[in-house]
Amino acid sequence: MSSTLYNEIINEHNLRPYHKYKLENANYTLEGVNPSCGDEITLELFIEDGVIKDAAYEGSGCAISQASADIMAEMVIGKTLDEAIHLSDLFLKMIKEGVSNEELEELDEAGILQSVSHMPARVKCAVLGWRTMKEIVEPLKNA
Ligand code: ZN
Repeated sequence: MSSTLYNEIINEHNLRPYHKYKLENANYTLEGVNPSCGDEITLELFIEDGVIKDAAYEGSGCAISQASADIMAEMVIGKTLDEAIHLSDLFLKMIKEGVSNEELEELDEAGILQSVSHMPARVKCAVLGWRTMKEIVEPLKNA
């Protein structure tokens, strides 16, 4: 992955986010903050029958935090709670210790954030959306 392509994708998700709006039928909402950078997101999910049927977020912060939240929202729509948690764990693993090629493929577009693992100051930015999503979903799974 070239750094040019990486920058293009991050920019694209900031200029034209797919999922940055208020989700009118959301039944789960959670705020996530990353004080070390000043990133904030409010994640909204519509969950029914154990499936994330829709996802959107609002917020402000650095380009990485917002792009990562946008990519996360895109990826979890249509996923079961288990699948969403699995993706979140995989994303964290990619950032913290690295993943296999198969796992990287599974992460699809989120895989472009792999290079963040070499930027310690940006790690909390990249994981903000994924961490917030997992905080909503995990208690539901065990309920
Ligand atoms: Zn940030």
